[in-house]
Parts: sequence; structure tokens; C-alpha cells
Amino acid sequence: MKRFEHVIVAGIDGAGAFIQNAKTPCMDAIFASGARTFRAFASRPSISAECWGSMLTGVSPALHGLTNEWISQHAYPTDSRFPTLYKRVRGAYPDAAVAAYCDWSPLVTGIVEADAGVDCLSLRDAELIGPACEYIRSRKPAFMFVHMDSVDGAGHKFGYGTPQHLNQIEVCDRYVQLLYSACRDAGMLDSTLFLVLSDHGGTCDERPEGGYSGSHGGWTEAERRISFLAAGPGIQAGEIGDMNIRDTAAIVLYALGIDMPAFDPNGWTAQLPENLFAGVQVPYIDISGETGAVPRVSRVRHTSQTAE
Ligand SMILES: [Zn+2]
Repeated sequence: MKRFEHVIVAGIDGAGAFIQNAKTPCMDAIFASGARTFRAFASRPSISAECWGSMLTGVSPALHGLTNEWISQHAYPTDSRFPTLYKRVRGAYPDAAVAAYCDWSPLVTGIVEADAGVDCLSLRDAELIGPACEYIRSRKPAFMFVHMDSVDGAGHKFGYGTPQHLNQIEVCDRYVQLLYSACRDAGMLDSTLFLVLSDHGGTCDERPEGGYSGSHGGWTEAERRISFLAAGPGIQAGEIGDMNIRDTAAIVLYALGIDMPAFDPNGWTAQLPENLFAGVQVPYIDISGETGAVPRVSRVRHTSQTAE
């Protein structure tokens, strides 16, 4: 059963759980009667390709194998055992508009199947939001992932959780408002699941030369906790139960009425969290201790990382 016609995912790279520390009047209003958690888990290791890869495939990094290095150099295989959400949505809805508008360009090449009919664009987030809004208004996508990278850039440069990092989250708060307003302009709000999430957080480390900078890849609270916010008809107001970023895959498929693969400890492990969809209470299986991978720091930084 299709519960929503549209799912829009606004991903704020490197925002971790720090959204709760920033002044975000736009998100506060959008999600005032929505569902939220600032205690969701990133993928392990807490690196962008691993995390966004898990969100899009519904499996852990140990299985999808995506790294920043890999997605910077390869196209996602069209015959993968773990098709992305783009491909699953395309399979269910051959005529639907499906889009990946991502600041960090490997996300539109390395984690999108070339044969899935995905409309892709990669620009710095300040320039990306206008075209993304125009796409929503004109194409009313069934599924769209909009990725913003400037917050991660600020976290690396100044330290995660610092005023500069929080300021950039506040800039992205306004981008989120523009995306949400585009859904309203398109007349989509009563049939849209609107999600905001981050992929990972990061650290704040004193630099020998003075000041602070940040990194991520480890499994400290600051790195592994992420934000997940949901708004739309039938979304239960309040705190969402335990969840992992890969559960976004289950949430998107459920929302669009697409059958999801059976839970498999060696494969699909995306699950619906408790207290997200009103009236749906499925027991959540905690496999957070079984992710296996060793924390690491990526050798490849995002090519687009700069602070505004
Ligand atoms: Zn980063």
C-alpha cells in the first residue's frame, strides 16, 4: 500500500546530532508536529560514503563496501546484490521522477545506478538548492535525495560543534525551508514524507598551531550520533525509537508502498523504527553491536569541502 506519493530526503553532511545545538527556526516549525531523534546511529565507520551508502542500500558498510575512495573512482554497479533506493523506486514506478541532487559529486556517480533513470545534478549546496526546488515544483519527484556538504566542510575546518559549524547548520536550515516550501508550492505537502538527516558527526580537536579542527571516522558519541527528522501525514509526533541511518531505506520503501527485502543479518538489515509511522509498532532488532567494521579515517576528503 502506498502511504505517500513523494519522499524528499534532505541530507546535511557532517551535521551529526549537532542540529539540536543550532538555532534552526525553520526545521523547528517544519517538524513541530513531526517525529525526531538526535540519537540515531551513523554507519560504522562514520564516513560519508559508508553512511550515505547504507542509507541508499539498506545494508551495512561491511556488505556494500562503499568508501569515499571507491565512489570517487567508480560507477555503482547496475547489477549489484544491493540495489539503491533509486533503482528500487524506479523498478516499482517506471514513470516516476527520481532524483539525486548532491553537493559532493561522487554521490551522483558512485552510489547511483546509471540505468535507473535518475536525474542528477552536483553543485555546491548554495547553488544547488535553487535548481532542487525548481525540480520539486516542476517534476514532483517520487523520491529525491538532496545532499548539502557545507556543514561537513565547516566541521573539518573549525571543529564539529563549534560556533562556525553551528552557523553553517543554520544556513542549511534555510535551505531546508526552501525545499519544504517548494513541496508546498507544488501542492505536494499532503502526500509527502519530508525527511532531514545527517550521515555522521565529528570531533573538535585542538590544533598545535592554535584553534580547532575536526575529523570523523571513529565511534565516539560526537561522531556516531546523527539527527533524523520526519514530517508528513501519518507521522507520529514525538521521539523516534532506536534507529540506524540504513533504516532510512526501509522507511522510504514503506512510505512508497514498495516491498522490502526480508531482514537478513548478512544482507538487508534496514528496519522501521518504533514511533515513526502512527499505528505501526514492529519490534526493532538491535544489531548495533554487530557492525564489525573497524573505525578508520578516510584518505579522501570531499572535493567540495569548504566553509562558507
Ligand atoms: Zn567529512
